[in-house]
Amino acid sequence: MKAQIVCIPEPGKIDVVEKELTIGPEDILVKTTMFSICGTDKNYYLGKLPRGTKIIDPSTSGYESHDKYPILMGHEGAGIVVETGSAVRDINVGDYVVSMGWNNCMADYWVSQYRPDGRGLILAPKGISKDVAALGDAVACSIYAGMHSGVMLGDVVAIVGCGFAGQVIAQIVKRMGAKTVICIEPIEPKLELAKKLGCDVVLNPNKVDVEEEVRKLTNNVGVDVVIETAGLGETVQMSTDILKHGGILGMYSWILDPVNLFVDRWHDDGFDIRTLAIMHRILHDMRWWIDKTMQVAADQIISIDPLLTHRFSFEDVEKAFECASTDDTAVKVGIDVS
Ligand SMILES: [Zn+2]
Repeated sequence: MKAQIVCIPEPGKIDVVEKELTIGPEDILVKTTMFSICGTDKNYYLGKLPRGTKIIDPSTSGYESHDKYPILMGHEGAGIVVETGSAVRDINVGDYVVSMGWNNCMADYWVSQYRPDGRGLILAPKGISKDVAALGDAVACSIYAGMHSGVMLGDVVAIVGCGFAGQVIAQIVKRMGAKTVICIEPIEPKLELAKKLGCDVVLNPNKVDVEEEVRKLTNNVGVDVVIETAGLGETVQMSTDILKHGGILGMYSWILDPVNLFVDRWHDDGFDIRTLAIMHRILHDMRWWIDKTMQVAADQIISIDPLLTHRFSFEDVEKAFECASTDDTAVKVGIDVS
């Protein structure tokens, strides 16, 4: 059968191309209900691609490397199973499933597999809202980042960058017992949203001296944990500069531009530096984390629905990309397909 798939042929351009889908014995055909646009997708749209490196991660072999155009898009989405291959056992026609990883699911139909490691697709957990499920792996990724950040009861935690991930992580660390959650972001509507969703302090770096404010809030000590989600050299520097001696520097964002940093404190202050990327864990425990984090979303322990700020129809997918890239108030942009 033929699918209509979103393709970025060159920076700043969106096409919808037709592709023949074949369904092998292990394959599952999904009719998309909604897909969403991630920071990664925005990077590709804006002309930022990862380097083609020579060291190959065995967990990603077989996946497209995305270091050149054109790129067939789609990793965040959900839909209904409409056909299964002869060897598929645990997934049935009619099941509601969520994309985990790159499936070219910015499309009306997509094909993936149900694998023990969680990559491919998973069954939507019972109770999850249809919209939240359609945000796909972004939900698992951001909940994981908060849960794996090392935050302990009573900590002062700073979240640098309040896009979708920052908003989720701020809520998770608060529920995990952080005493004070500080959200740092230059876009006011995103700070207002963070405040509404329960963070304690908001700081706009265009209005205040963030380092100074953090010193006042922490008795000159610095924050216990900082989680960087903005992906800029200046935000990694800010994260480095507001962390306490021996604190945890959590790196969520995917930084594609070369950055220039003072990193002396990483050594001098014995920072515990950790990457917070669920989809790049070793395969054996990735599945456990995917199920755990999606259950948190299904149980509605935090608010995710208000983060879906904009919706478009499939015909307007180009407008959706423009909105995600230029509208300051866009936290998550969803595209309804059927
Ligand atoms: Zn994503």
